[in-house]
Amino acid sequence: SSRFLDVPQAPPDAILGISEAFKADTSPDKMNLGVGAYRTEEGKPLVLGAVREAERREYLNMGGIPEFCKLAAALAFGKGSAALQEGRNATIQCLSGTGSLRVGGEFLSSFYPGPKLVLIPTPSWANHKAIFKRCGMQTQEYRYYKPETRGLDYEGMLEDIRAAPDGAVLLLHACAHNPTGVDPTPEQWQGILEVTQSKKLLPFFDSAYQGFASGDLDRDGASLRMFADTGMEMLLAQSFAKNMGLYGERVGALSVVVGDAAAAKKVESQLKITARQMYSNPPRHGASIATRILGDPALMDQWKQELKGMADRIHTMRQGLYDALQEVGAPGDWTHILKQIGMFSFTGLTRPQVENMTNKWHVYMTFDGRISMAGLSSGKCKYLAEAIKDSVE
Ligand code: PLP
Repeated sequence: SSRFLDVPQAPPDAILGISEAFKADTSPDKMNLGVGAYRTEEGKPLVLGAVREAERREYLNMGGIPEFCKLAAALAFGKGSAALQEGRNATIQCLSGTGSLRVGGEFLSSFYPGPKLVLIPTPSWANHKAIFKRCGMQTQEYRYYKPETRGLDYEGMLEDIRAAPDGAVLLLHACAHNPTGVDPTPEQWQGILEVTQSKKLLPFFDSAYQGFASGDLDRDGASLRMFADTGMEMLLAQSFAKNMGLYGERVGALSVVVGDAAAAKKVESQLKITARQMYSNPPRHGASIATRILGDPALMDQWKQELKGMADRIHTMRQGLYDALQEVGAPGDWTHILKQIGMFSFTGLTRPQVENMTNKWHVYMTFDGRISMAGLSSGKCKYLAEAIKDSVE
């Protein structure tokens, strides 16, 4: 007997289950496009040269964790950011993107004087809603993706945001929206900013792919800088999992930008207590590597080149898959594969079509039709295109 017999069984994790099925598959043609982790042309994980070099030199000069926070914030907001120069940010190292979202959610749940309601795009990274709910926040969806165009539902998005309570928290993907790969244009970002201001919403940016989307760190930081440069208050969860290939090291930062430096100090003290009560303190190793890279001009240059290399390879895969779909004569319009941004492509395949991809063609992907472009290689574009053609026909 147990007092915990009534604890409901949690549903299996959609993405980790796919990896297990992939491992058990013995077909030589099998392809894992389910998990969003960068792979080389050979299908191998990539240890970035900048990371290896930083690790080798690590004993020379420990940058320290506060240094990481400073550098991470400067990477996101830009070195010239007024918020940073005026000391209006409270930035703490957290457990990658997820941990940053969670600490941010806990902080808002305890201290945000506005509505404890987070507006989340449909669809979004599946964990967003769960994280905020676990913090005791309410969530509400806003339209984001338009299946007919496989692009942004800009009008629907603004309409839903306008209809939400004033002062609500607005979750935004800074770039490379997961799972759709659909980002607003700079003009659309401007429109979203205007609604955010007029409704006094509190933006919470999730930046999990800075540098990975376009290959350019500044370009991928443009949306959140556009917001921060107005002087508005906002939150930012930053992950270095993808852009530094440090997935298991849990390197990330939470920034709370506020209107006044004295408030930032108080906020920081509460963020630290929140962390202490959840996990005491974050791991040192990965953040010290990131600190070394962010603080060293030569390593920074190397990292930027490698980021560009990863983004370019993903772009080549988009083109390769698109060309192969034309070549095999897959019916329909596939230009969204070229237009979408970042690690993922939202193919538009339905659940039965995805099942055919996996059961017949050994192609593993999430049931929403999302594929990780980073899991693809040039030699496999044709096979994938054949599988897609067979599945949609
Ligand atoms: N946010 C988004 C949009 C993501 O896609 C991910 C990872 O897939 C994360 C946050 C969390 O990543 P991590 O906790 O590994 O940094």
